[in-house]
Amino acid sequence: MTTTSAGTAIPKELGDKTNLIAGEWGEARSGSRFEVRSPATGALLAEVPSCAAADVDAAVAAAKAAWPAFKGLHVYERSAIVLRMAELIRQRAETIACVLSAEEGKPFATEALPEVLEVALNFQLAAEDVVRMETPVIAMRDPNKRLLSFREPFGVMAVITPWNFPTVIPSEYIGPGLAAGNTMVMKPASTTPLSMILVARCIEEALEESDLPKGIFNLITGRGSVIGDRLVSHPDVDIVGFTGETVTGESICARAGIKQTLMELGGNGPQIVCPDADLEAAAAAAALGCFLNAGQVCCATERILVERSIHDRFLELLLEETRKWRLGEPFDPATTMGPLNNEPTAVKTEEHLADATAKGAEILTGGARESGRPTGLYFPPTVIDGVRRDMLLNLEETFGPVAPVIQYTTDDEAVEIANETGYGLQMSVFTSSIKRCFWFADRLRTGNVVFNDSTDYWEAHEPFGGGGGTKSGHGRLGGRFTLDDVTHLKTLAIDFAKAL
Ligand code: NAD
Repeated sequence: MTTTSAGTAIPKELGDKTNLIAGEWGEARSGSRFEVRSPATGALLAEVPSCAAADVDAAVAAAKAAWPAFKGLHVYERSAIVLRMAELIRQRAETIACVLSAEEGKPFATEALPEVLEVALNFQLAAEDVVRMETPVIAMRDPNKRLLSFREPFGVMAVITPWNFPTVIPSEYIGPGLAAGNTMVMKPASTTPLSMILVARCIEEALEESDLPKGIFNLITGRGSVIGDRLVSHPDVDIVGFTGETVTGESICARAGIKQTLMELGGNGPQIVCPDADLEAAAAAAALGCFLNAGQVCCATERILVERSIHDRFLELLLEETRKWRLGEPFDPATTMGPLNNEPTAVKTEEHLADATAKGAEILTGGARESGRPTGLYFPPTVIDGVRRDMLLNLEETFGPVAPVIQYTTDDEAVEIANETGYGLQMSVFTSSIKRCFWFADRLRTGNVVFNDSTDYWEAHEPFGGGGGTKSGHGRLGGRFTLDDVTHLKTLAIDFAKAL
């Protein structure tokens, strides 16, 4: 891999060879590479291997060969190794965060650095939780028999992740996946592989410190449609962890067949603002939910549902909050929102806004890319009022820095709008009534509901994922709950009467 002088944030530690297969850092077998560019400056940051099916096969073979020894380790030994990974990541957090900021575009101090610290925390939590996993012992009708159960790793785990949280999302799979005894092949997103390569160096170093076979953790870079496809359909891959768009998740599930899958997919999170809500707090939370990481968050506030009688006051407050957000270069300490990560996201944001304005909605601030910036990806915080249910802003995930305001009349109508898009990842409700909290909790079809905070509120150890039957996927990422999804239950029935 090469770095350029324009890529000043890219440290030497990244190295020239960034494919990790069977403990060796190398190139793609074909020798081909692709470019990674800064969304903030357009500068070439690095070139990384463009892998193909043969590289996938080699990585999977390495992970398969390493599995028996790794699975055979005592759980306390695996826990110690994963804890060491956390330690190394924490030590190098600033360096990793610099690279993350440069390739993703998110502000360094307020978003990239906290993301990397959460990566370390995810490894730490996995190391701590795995030694406390409990499984049932069940009585049987035959008094001589007992049922004992254990959790077993699946084997080779494929991990495929998106660009919006290039390190924390992989860590949600890799920490628990390794702690539980799976070996792994991971593929980061093509616009943001560099920070994850630095995390992989920490993972590999921790593994090298213990005398283990090579190939427990492998990382390859390349196009999703080429290597992602091969990975998920590979006969020696036993479990697939995927975070990304709903359509990609659907096609992966179709090809993965009967493999175990964890699918963390798109969201279309509404924030519902009831008439009894603290409106100041609701407006600040809505702005955060819409503009954090420029709206490129799976649990972003994609829609703000406001009860009709408080609409005017809420809108005033939302515009006031929006003015506090500063679009700028990610390393500028004054910046609170960076550029979008990539062109397709900018185009989709424009399309959704154009659809809404054509149908009568009104843009009150923002609404178009800023000119005079180093790239065309600087999209300002945008507030749009008069959004209706038939508009793309309501029906689909936008993934841009847009705050669409939709009015509703009754709580029933709010629930109907919230549930009608088929997504169900994280929703939020602002109300001062505990009764209303539970009323909404019972009716919103989603994996997670936050009351009186942003849809973008989460903590590392909470179970996070799509509500059953929604387009947001299945499985839980976060804390000890992922350990259940990356293992299967093995049950033993023992007849003590026939034993010594
Ligand atoms: P994406 O689906 O385009 O890509 C995700 C990953 O899949 C990338 O690594 C990509 O290279 C790979 N990929 C692409 N095509 C593939 C294929 N045919 N087979 C296998 N792999 C393939 O998603 P994205 O644009 O990178 O990420 C944004 C999406 O991710 C949004 O929809 C967002 O809501 C979702 N997301 C969900 C969560 C969650 O926890 N539910 C978290 C973050 C992001």
